[in-house]
Amino acid sequence: MLDKTCKALTKAGTRCKMKPLASGYCHIHDLEVIAKREAERKRDEDEWKRKQQKGEKLREVLGAVEAACKAKGWQFQVETRDWEDGRYATVSVRRFILAVGVDEGIFEITINGGIDIIGEQTCGSRPRFESLRDAILVA
Ligand SMILES: [Zn+2]
Repeated sequence: MLDKTCKALTKAGTRCKMKPLASGYCHIHDLEVIAKREAERKRDEDEWKRKQQKGEKLREVLGAVEAACKAKGWQFQVETRDWEDGRYATVSVRRFILAVGVDEGIFEITINGGIDIIGEQTCGSRPRFESLRDAILVA
């Protein structure tokens, strides 16, 4: 025969008045439910940490690419970015030199175990773009 109320005591020391489950405890005080809730919380937390760490790597790489661009006088702009898993980003770079013209290019950054950076020139001088790409790949 089940009690009409939960077997647990509240923090105030009085008997919990919630409806009990088969265990005799309510859904707040039932150990199995508590363990399940705890496991879910931990899983969410681990997932969040994992994503944070992934995002961290991409942030680092983007920072290094930006620094390399600045050092060579290129403008740097993040075009697309995978906020979910922090696995890829696309960056556009641009430089204008008076009486010479515009250089433009795109870098695709993929993080999947290692770091993969592919540079593609879209406008301007190839040697100047390659000089930037070399600087980025070293960084
Ligand atoms: Zn209870």
